[in-house]
Amino acid sequence: MDTDTDGLERTLTGQPLAEAVRTKEITMSTRPVIHISNVKKVYTMGTNKVFALRGVDLTVSAGEMIAVMGSSGSGKSTLMNILGCLDVPTEGSYELDGTRVDGLNRNQLADLRNQKLGFVFQGFNLLSRTSALDNVELPLLYDRSGRKLDTRALATESLRRVGLGDRLDHQPSELSGGQQQRVAIARALVTQPTLLLADEPTGNLDSHMTVEVMALFQELNDQGITVLLVTHEPEVAQYAKRIVEVRDGRILRDHPVIDRRSAADDLATLNAAGPDADIAVLEEAA
Ligand code: ADP
Ligand code: MG
Repeated sequence: MDTDTDGLERTLTGQPLAEAVRTKEITMSTRPVIHISNVKKVYTMGTNKVFALRGVDLTVSAGEMIAVMGSSGSGKSTLMNILGCLDVPTEGSYELDGTRVDGLNRNQLADLRNQKLGFVFQGFNLLSRTSALDNVELPLLYDRSGRKLDTRALATESLRRVGLGDRLDHQPSELSGGQQQRVAIARALVTQPTLLLADEPTGNLDSHMTVEVMALFQELNDQGITVLLVTHEPEVAQYAKRIVEVRDGRILRDHPVIDRRSAADDLATLNAAGPDADIAVLEEAA
């Protein structure tokens, strides 16, 4: 990364970094979005040590869509927390979109999260009795970059992008689970992140809503956003491009998805089969 005489960080083509991130020049480049090397995480509880990660190497390029799989306690959330700059490794190095993460202080980590990452959680984590628009606007109010932003317009645009342009004033209790998760995805997108991290995003959804949310993740990935999600459902992982299997704090297998499914096609099949249709129609259609 070059720094020009005006002090702005620039990309290889000379475009200012902030602008390039906005126009997606960065996400189209081939440099890794994530590069971690020999990452270890040890939780110390009294005299007990829990070795949650035992030396993980992972490189994720722009445009990938990865499902992290593994049984409970295998280290998936620990890995996601480190990748999401919510926690720091005990050992090992982490570079996020060209920035060295290990060694940063709390404020620097917070800024990096705000600039580069969007988070989606299993439980949606929306503020209740607060409109969809206000929920989505929230991350922009924490923006400390000094940019002057029309936060209402950006939040509206983000909700339109997830298909909820007609639900701006609805509160979470007035929306279905699938719609609530789409509000949460709009909130994650509003800061224009390079990378979307989702820990069990469909864990609280029925199969129809799961397909609906996965169709949205696939659409966003097609638009250039790198997606990394945790799931324990093999059907959900089939919508990703690559599966990383974690066991006992290590990566056990890392392989491309063969016969990747299109969630939009599956959604069309489900909708055509009518409101009472079982997810089994997808097996019949396959
Ligand atoms: P997963 O998300 O795959 O279920 P986690 O990353 O949550 O796994 O946990 C990995 C291991 O680390 C487990 O043995 C868990 O009990 C332990 N662990 C996770 N978080 C903490 C913590 N904050 N303190 C102590 N041990 C933890
Ligand atoms: Mg977990």
